[in-house]
Amino acid sequence: MIECRNIVKTYGNVQAVSGISLRLYEHEFLSILGPSGCGKSTLLRLIAGLEVPSQGQVFLDGQEISGRKIIVPPEHRKFSMIFQDFALFPHLNVSENIGYGAVGSKNEKQQRVQELLELVSLTHIASKMPDQISGGEQQRIAVARALAPRPSLIMMDEPFSNLDYQLRQKLRRDIKEILKHEGVATLFVTHDQVEAITFSDRLLLMQNGELVQEGTPSAIYHHPETIWASSFVGEANHLTVEWRNDTLQTPLGEFNMPSEIGSKVSILMVRPEDFKIETASIEHSNGIVKSVEFSGSFQIVCVALENGTTVQVSCSPHILWNQKDTLRIKAERYLCFNSSGKRLYEFRE
Ligand code: ADP
Repeated sequence: MIECRNIVKTYGNVQAVSGISLRLYEHEFLSILGPSGCGKSTLLRLIAGLEVPSQGQVFLDGQEISGRKIIVPPEHRKFSMIFQDFALFPHLNVSENIGYGAVGSKNEKQQRVQELLELVSLTHIASKMPDQISGGEQQRIAVARALAPRPSLIMMDEPFSNLDYQLRQKLRRDIKEILKHEGVATLFVTHDQVEAITFSDRLLLMQNGELVQEGTPSAIYHHPETIWASSFVGEANHLTVEWRNDTLQTPLGEFNMPSEIGSKVSILMVRPEDFKIETASIEHSNGIVKSVEFSGSFQIVCVALENGTTVQVSCSPHILWNQKDTLRIKAERYLCFNSSGKRLYEFRE
């Protein structure tokens, strides 16, 4: 539905977006994830038509909408935007806020407002004013208002960041369901990896104005292409390793691998859940428990390895670990990266 070809945006000598190409498909939830200042909002504004690209083009259903200039202005793109501060009209009640963007006859507009009030489960507060309702309710109204004109694309820029943690989790689920029900494509900008992983069908990972990796949340989590991506999406243990005597010397022991790969590896990455730990006597152990963080459905055990490196291990809460327990630790799955941080090799038992 949307295609960006080699989009660049510079402000003075800052290159906010450096040659990004992407596609967004109908009905898809696409997230742009990256640290603050990496160019996410600029990319969103370029797609919305609120900024002119310095280079490159934006297409909607194969038709160019932005190039050297804005060809189709934002108000004719059938896109709706939802902002961090919800931006409800303070002098209009809930129904009027939702109805603001609705199109058609008076009857059709009323019908659409009713339908959306039901969809966001807020019929009971239809006549309240924005300052009389909670933050979560305001967010749902903002979503309903954005959906009112039946847009082909909803754009959201950090829409949950003003809400508390628990409310955010619930709203994320509800809003995803609402948007899926409406079948509208969604472009979502966030710096919160948990939000991006749980909310999207597909992720674009950005760093310093560039696209680092794209894929489903699970593909990026399991197969990060760079060390940076491995720690930005999920928790990661990074171990320094060395190729010596035709084996990879690691803080977990010696690993065998083909020499053409092993000789180039400098970092081993292990996810906390990819370690296996078992109690072991001192003679058979290769690690010792430094601390335990019990979290109910799982626990994080911090293990000191023989060379003093510590790793975080996520394991079942049913075996109780205590500080100073000796154990045998093994990586059942790991990824190898070269000195430039690029992935070279994946191992799974
Ligand atoms: P993000 O959304 O990832 O936090 P932004 O897209 O807002 O990042 O910003 C990317 C870079 O572009 C930042 O260095 C920011 O300071 C710069 N930038 C964004 N908008 C403007 C602007 N209107 N004028 C000058 N610099 C800008």
